[in-house]
Formats: sequence, structure tokens, C-alpha cells
Amino acid sequence: MTTGMKQTFDSPAFREKYHCGVPLGAFCSREGTEFRLWAPTARFVTLRLYREGTGECLLERIPLRREEKGLWRYATERNLHGVYYDYLVTADRKTQSTADPYARACGLNGGRSMAVDLSRTDPEGWAGDKAPPLPPETVIYEIHVKDFSWDPAAGVPPEYRGKFKALCLENTTLNGDGRRPTCLAYLRELGVTHIQLMPVFDYGSVDEGGGPEQFNWGYDPVNYNVPEGSYSTDPANGAVRVREMKEAVQSLHRNGFRVIMDVVYNHTYRQDSWLGRTVPGYYYRHKADGTLSDGSGCGNDLASERSMCAQYILDSVLYWAEEYHIDGFRFDLMGLLDVPLMNRIRQELDRRWGRGEKLMLGEPWAAGETAAAPGTVLAGKEHLAGLDRWIGAFCDGTRDAVKGDLWSRDAAGFVNGGGLDADRLACCVKGWANCPDGLMKAPSQTVNYLSCHDDWTLWDRLVYTGDRERRFARCSLELLRQNRLAAAINFTCQGHLFLLSGEEFARTKQGLKNTYAASAEINRLDWSRAWANRELVDYYKGLIALRMRLPGLRDKSPGAAARVLSVTAPAENCAAVLLDNSGEGSVWQRLLLAYSASREAVSLALPRGKWEILADAESSFAWREPAAAEDTVRLEPVSALILGQR
Ligand code: CA
Repeated sequence: MTTGMKQTFDSPAFREKYHCGVPLGAFCSREGTEFRLWAPTARFVTLRLYREGTGECLLERIPLRREEKGLWRYATERNLHGVYYDYLVTADRKTQSTADPYARACGLNGGRSMAVDLSRTDPEGWAGDKAPPLPPETVIYEIHVKDFSWDPAAGVPPEYRGKFKALCLENTTLNGDGRRPTCLAYLRELGVTHIQLMPVFDYGSVDEGGGPEQFNWGYDPVNYNVPEGSYSTDPANGAVRVREMKEAVQSLHRNGFRVIMDVVYNHTYRQDSWLGRTVPGYYYRHKADGTLSDGSGCGNDLASERSMCAQYILDSVLYWAEEYHIDGFRFDLMGLLDVPLMNRIRQELDRRWGRGEKLMLGEPWAAGETAAAPGTVLAGKEHLAGLDRWIGAFCDGTRDAVKGDLWSRDAAGFVNGGGLDADRLACCVKGWANCPDGLMKAPSQTVNYLSCHDDWTLWDRLVYTGDRERRFARCSLELLRQNRLAAAINFTCQGHLFLLSGEEFARTKQGLKNTYAASAEINRLDWSRAWANRELVDYYKGLIALRMRLPGLRDKSPGAAARVLSVTAPAENCAAVLLDNSGEGSVWQRLLLAYSASREAVSLALPRGKWEILADAESSFAWREPAAAEDTVRLEPVSALILGQR
């Protein structure tokens, strides 16, 4: 792009002249259909209507009329529901065909948009669909639609494996044995509160007309406002994927879960996207020499600081929340988006649905340098203080402290022998709010996690640091102890809680790190393993259930850090944190959180008074019939103890 164009797009004059507040896209109802495209640099725009989503089946060509603010429009009394369309845009001395960047439905592989009367895509009972009430604590479980039900042992019928439809099956069991729950039924027992769906917008790396063996995580957006076709039972019919994703959300709600979408507004699959073809150059960041900025590591970065790009992202979020009843958004590489936009999204969600009702979280980093317009404040770690305190950020500090530095496979953290001083562990407990090098204002800004789809699973990491023979499939008692200790730390840190699906059953990807394009076999949830490691699953279950009863840990206010009353190191590689747990409905007024990575048992001196053991090395359900403790208690090697005082 030329320097002149870049300056024009960044100028207040361009914004003043062309910022367009009119809703964009195709709107279709019984009263008629209207097409609206924002293309301020275009000289001509032609709408083309088609019978199908692909192939030679042109019905009509209609020139669009240019109106104010760069808006192009065509309105008709015809109801064009089910009619496919694209545009020919002449801009920058070129004429290009493009799908509608605001498309709400599309044909196979998303190359052609479809006019859709959205009321005709609603599943039965949709008007009455409601998210379950906000839980006392947020426990997010990250799944990929295909991973979730791809294992034949899941007990899902072959035609629904890897599809939205599998999220609608409520009573599946291992190999259909009728006894051991899998998928949704399994999750109901686990106690997580939010299901986070890895990309379910239309992405480009899987051929929707291709074979079932294809797999990708889907961080390569093509149509931001359309569901991915390969998860539907008929990707060629534009209405089907819309209805089936709504059915999945409805089913998740009915089963007690809120739904979070993983959204990737930082880059597009290709720079040659619908946004790029409609207003060449406008939606992307360019370096001074005119080449594309690449802070995403995927070849391009969206220019969120430009007003119509910001509007596009905001409109998209609001659309998913409104039309699909989505309850939260996880922003991929949030560090590439700007702080004012993130705060504006927060405000708009709050204004429409109530403060904090819709969750927002994001990765407070980028993959590299980005060429944002001068003065842009990016929503990375260094600017967390400027972000609304109800925007959560993934906490790499705790993640790395517990299991070892992300970038070095064999580096150990606290649980696998890397050592850690007690004060650092106490900062983990505080969600890094009010810590010397912490950047959070309150634990509402912290998302605690040990593993997510990126990088090695927690289990594989523990195998790398603890088993020279790299036996990923085998579950040694020593590594299981480390896993339980890690989970106990994570679930006793203030902030939101997050886990990669299967972390609770020692999920392995055979030691592979980045499996975004690996096979479905590598990525799939192994439901047999979930049952083989039932004891570890139960340990997670107990921690989640206990957490709901501990207001001192659930506290997300700026004052939560003051609940930490003292921090001690009873022995080497041990820490004990005394915490004020008072609050509404609290059974235990004080908690003692003790963590030991020592290979020897340690005698832990208890603060005065009678204590109860709520969780120990073996059981996280001890709180149901707590054993008494006083003066001292034995802290087993590589384990956590959670004690409460009434
Ligand atoms: Ca697709």
C-alpha cells in the first residue's frame, strides 16, 4: 500500500467523512431484502445474485447506488431468503469479486454469501432459550467441536461425530455402555460452568466439501459472522450451519453451561479477504515501507484502531451475543487489538445485558511487533491497567511458575522440581493483583490456567520433565501427584479458572506441542483415558466443588489481595498461605493453603485453634466429612493441603 493511502486511512478527515453508523450486511424478512455495503473507495459496486452457493448459476446483476459516507445500497420488496450473492467492487483501479464481509450465512467454503431471514433458522424453543444463572465462580472448559466427539469410544453416532450435533446429545456413554458418561453427560458431572468453543466462525483451512479426516483448530477466519460449515451436517445449505450452531448453544444452556466463543479479530486467513477486497488496504496495518504488518505471525494484522474496523469487530461481537445467545468472548492475541476498542466492547455488552453478564477474556500478548497507527494503546500485558477490570487476561505468570517456562520444554516449575519461593506462590494465589511485578488491578482481570490448546498439555509437560523414557500413555503415580498438586494450586488462586478439556484426565497429545493442523486422532479427547484416569478426574471435580464454597478465593474485588494474612515457608520447596475466607454463607472463616514440592514429608505448624482438612494429597472431597487437625499436620511429599477454620 502507498504511504499516501495509509495516511489517508489514518486521518481524522477520512474518519469524519466516511464513518458510517448504519447497520451493514444483507437484511432479509417477509417485507423485503436490503443489501448494504461500506466501500468508500469504490467507484462501482455490482450485486450478483445466485441460485446456489457455488458454481455457475447467476440469476441477476444489480448495480448498487452510492449514498453518503461510502455506503452502497440496494433494496427490494422481494424476500430473497436462501438466495446467494456476492459483489463486484471496482476500487484502486481494479475490479474484484468479493463475498460480503458482513455475511450472516454463506455457501460451501464461504466464497459466496447467502441472504438469510434469521428467524427461519431458529430451533424450536429458541425464543425461550436462556443461559443458566451466573455461577458463584467461573470455571471455563475449553473444547474444540471436532476433538470433543471424534473418538469412536465417545458413543456418538458416526454421522454426528465432530459436529455441532454432538453437543446436543445429552446421554452418551463410553462405547455406549449405558454406565460411564462421555461428552455433555460427563461435563455435567465435572462441574465446570462455561464451555469455551475454539473457533466456530467460518474458517478456511478445512475444505468443507472434503473428507472427514481433515482437521484444523480454525484460527484462520474467512467469514467472521457465519458458523464453520464442517461442523454442520450440510455445509452447502447456508441455513443449516446457522440452525445447528444455535441448537448447540441451546443444548449447552439447557445442560447448565454458559458458552464462550473464541474470536480471532486480529488477523484473517489471507490478506486477500472480503474486507481486503471491499476497501483495499483499509482494514490492515502496514509498515512504513508499505508491506503488511505481521504481529499475529499469520501474515497480517487487522487495524482495530481505524474506526470502521473497530465498528466491524464490535458489530460482530454484539451479533454473536444477540443472535446466537453467546455468553462470553475469548479474544485471540488481544495484545493486537487496542485498549479503547476492548473497553468499548465491554461497555456495550454491559449496557445491553447487564454489568459482567457477558464474560470477556483474552490473551494479553501478540506473536510479534505490529505496525499500529502512532498513539495506539494495545491491549497487551503492559497496558492491563487501562483495561476495564472485567476483562480477564490469561495469566502466564502462574502457569509458568507452576509447571515451568513455556518456551523451554524441559524447564521445571514448582510442582516438577523447579523450586519457587513462597512469596511468588502467594502472588499466584492473589492472581498477581497488588504484587510487586503484577499488572492486574484485581483478580477479575486474571484467568488462571495450567494448559490450553496451545503448547504441550499439562500431562505431556510433566512427562518431559519427569520421565526420561517419555511414556506419555503411561500414568505413573509420581506424575499424577505432580498433576494433583498443580491443579490444587490453580484452583486456589484468586481469579477466573480455566482448563483445557482433558487436563483433568491427563490428556496427552503424544508430546506434540502445536497440533493445530495435526490429525483428529492426535487432538481428539480420548474418552477411554477419561475413565482410566477416573481418580484424577475426581480430584478436579472435588476442587471445583470446594471452590464454589470458598468466598475468600472467589473474591474478584480490588481488595481481594488483602485477604492474604500471612505467607510462610515451612520447609524448602513449601509454602503456606493463610487467607481470610469470610463472606456470605462462608463455613470456614480462615483457610490455610499449603503447597509442597518437597520429596520428603513435612511437618506443618498450624496457626492456633481447631482446623479441618478440606483437601489433601489423595482427596479433594475431604471437606464433605472433614478430619480435625490442631498444632501440626503432616504435609505429604509433592502435595497440597487445604485447611479451614470455622
Ligand atoms: Ca469454512
